Amino acid sequence: MIYDVAIIGAGPAGLTAGIFTCRAGLKTICVERLAVGGQTALSYSIANYPGVEELSGFEIAERMRVQAESFGLNIVYSIVLKIKKNKSNLTLVTTNGNVLEKKVIIASGCKPRRLGLSREDEFIGHGISYCASCDGGFYRDKIVAVAGGGDSAMEYAVYLSRLAKKVYVLNRSEHFRANPQSVENVRKIKNVKMLTNTKVIELNGEDSLNSIEIDSNGQKKVLNIDGLFVAIGQVPDVDYLGGQIKLDKNGYILVDSEMRTSMKNVYACGDVTSKRFRQVITACSDGAVAGNSCIGD
Ligand code: NDP
Repeated sequence: MIYDVAIIGAGPAGLTAGIFTCRAGLKTICVERLAVGGQTALSYSIANYPGVEELSGFEIAERMRVQAESFGLNIVYSIVLKIKKNKSNLTLVTTNGNVLEKKVIIASGCKPRRLGLSREDEFIGHGISYCASCDGGFYRDKIVAVAGGGDSAMEYAVYLSRLAKKVYVLNRSEHFRANPQSVENVRKIKNVKMLTNTKVIELNGEDSLNSIEIDSNGQKKVLNIDGLFVAIGQVPDVDYLGGQIKLDKNGYILVDSEMRTSMKNVYACGDVTSKRFRQVITACSDGAVAGNSCIGD
């Protein structure tokens, strides 16, 4: 069968796009790699989405999924490997076969940025994590560190402080990038120690991580820790595009005001696009515009 629209990614942007296309009667499939909600599902508290005073990211994403499916969105789980252009349609080549459609909406979001240290891959799941709410439970009464100084790092620190015996927050620069109020809240937590001008330079351990070497204000030190949570931002998830769509210099997809990309009948929305402000509300807004463009173009 040929779908009217195929959406890549079931985060807030993709689900919102699906709500709009399905409500307009377009047969829509959404291909998700891992789990509904994307990065939003990993946030333990969202308090700036209008109409929702405070809810976990997982709960907000679940509500969006239920709403999108109630309008007929078909969510399937596989990894998109390529977008192929045919004579009159497009094809998503996925790990579970091909999906044919007239239009594509890319809403694949971002993935966690890596520290880029040697042995980082080896320790993933053995002392290194990119998600506090997913893996924090493994570090009850242990010593952990959070690398990063943005809002995600502050969220991780608060979450982990309730489980771990001690939490170090390691910010590579002098000033924290996070909202000052969040930084103050973390500063007040007794079992959290915040270090500025501090970089992780080496990861140590045999089968699992047991210490890190840091450069703190020019001095090298070893911190004995059981876990390192990396919260140093995101990078766009666009590897599968293989250069066929125009990106900005940081690798985000360039779109016009109607979310059209440089490829005909391909739209993009949410965190994967080139813009300054990445929040649930802006992802949903982009998704609505992309959905509407598929209806109108
Ligand atoms: P940010 O890009 O905001 O912060 C990244 C942090 O990681 C900065 O402290 C940066 O340091 C540091 N960093 C970057 N690269 C490296 C590196 N190679 N080594 C060490 N440190 C590094 O990312 P976040 O994920 O925190 O936030 C992304 C967006 O999501 C933001 O807009 C944020 O406001 C939003 N967000 C909102 C939340 C909410 O409202 N509840 C919760 C979480 C995120 P430096 O400053 O020195 O560059």
